[in-house]
Amino acid sequence: MAPDIEQHVHRTAAILSIGDELALGETVNTNSAWIAQRLTNCGVKPVTHVTVDDSLNSIAAIMRELASRVDVVVSSGGLGPTDDDLTRQALAQALGEELVEDEQSLASLQRRFQAIGRELLAANRVQTLRPVSGRCLKNPHGTAPGIAATWREGELKCDFFCLPGPPREMQPMLERLVLPALKPSGDRVIRLRTLHVFGLPESGIPKLLGGLMERGRNPVVGTSAQTGFVTCKIRFEGDPAKADATLDAAEKQVRAALDPFVFGVDDETLASVVSDLLRTRGESVTTAESCTGGLVSMMLTERPGSSDVFVGGWATYSNEFKHGSLDVPLELIEKHGAVSEHVARAMAKGALARSAESEKPANHAISITGVAGPGGGTEEKPVGTVWIARATRGDETEARLFRFSDQRDAIRERSALAALGMLRLKLIGRTDVKLLWEQ
Ligand code: AMP
Ligand code: MG
Repeated sequence: MAPDIEQHVHRTAAILSIGDELALGETVNTNSAWIAQRLTNCGVKPVTHVTVDDSLNSIAAIMRELASRVDVVVSSGGLGPTDDDLTRQALAQALGEELVEDEQSLASLQRRFQAIGRELLAANRVQTLRPVSGRCLKNPHGTAPGIAATWREGELKCDFFCLPGPPREMQPMLERLVLPALKPSGDRVIRLRTLHVFGLPESGIPKLLGGLMERGRNPVVGTSAQTGFVTCKIRFEGDPAKADATLDAAEKQVRAALDPFVFGVDDETLASVVSDLLRTRGESVTTAESCTGGLVSMMLTERPGSSDVFVGGWATYSNEFKHGSLDVPLELIEKHGAVSEHVARAMAKGALARSAESEKPANHAISITGVAGPGGGTEEKPVGTVWIARATRGDETEARLFRFSDQRDAIRERSALAALGMLRLKLIGRTDVKLLWEQ
């Protein structure tokens, strides 16, 4: 028989989400992804996710099946006080045990109800039940305690951690009570590094990355398309001592292969990267937005402390406002249309000039004018036609034409990102590079 310590190691995990609202798609299952990321970070690999409705026999059957396949199951949901919350009963059934009232949980629930002057009902007492061999997990933010229990069958063993569904109750319990109780194998970790790519189509990336994306490779790179950009996730599985160096080397390879389209890593965004580039140079930007209505401003102010690099901007939606606040000549709009190279350039230059009226003139201005749809498109300028310009103090102004083919939201978001992308190219000295969607 393997030594006892071996049996306690948690290598693989299953994440079980319980609730009619999840099965029916009324509630988006955010717990599942959140739990998976936390487990992965601490070296326990989630290998399966299951969502099941509030049905006793289904939950119990799935619990038994998972128990025979993985080392730990983390469930959320089904611990409320009502008849449709059946996780306790299902766990007892899966373990082949009776439910008993947990004295400590009952005492603490009684205190809780006393403190708020409410009567403890039979329905609430149900929440203090646990399988005989299990133990309750304290819930500081709600009335439903969690339950921990171990399933055994012959040599097989699986630890269950059942947590309440509301994320604000579940999250601190996972962090404080579950993760510290896990015993990752230690000789094998999973580490991820995410590189963000803007301006390349996802379909073109595998060829550029060569063998880096081959399944079974370690580290391996996987891509996924977001609205407007692509993420490349580098995943390493193995000796923790080798993780950082291996990821660093793979990151270098991906950056070199996709240069200059990789703009950031992990938590970085296009806006945060542009802000950092501006900050390093002691420069700032202003915006003049038409069809994006202030999206670029929003992106640039998402993180606190951006006033040193973003001085402010204009959302100039009507022609009159473009004229009144940015001095775009009305005749120019009449002659070329609001969505045109001329107007985009005039907006950017106007914003730069107007920013100089304040004590903090901007060094760069970016402007966006386009047809975001769904109406308003013409044969010459179909929905998705967007002109973006960048003006830089003491430097040339450039304008680029983009054709986005998508829905209004995506056109607006991609336009905002493309404007930041253009400014980034200027800041890294690569205005020669063409971005995806550019004509
Ligand atoms: P519970 O009473 O423990 O079944 O959970 C109650 C509430 O928690 C649900 O009504 C949802 O709002 C939320 N909830 C449960 N499971 C999830 C999940 N997987 N992701 C996000 N929210 C959830
Ligand atoms: Mg429920």
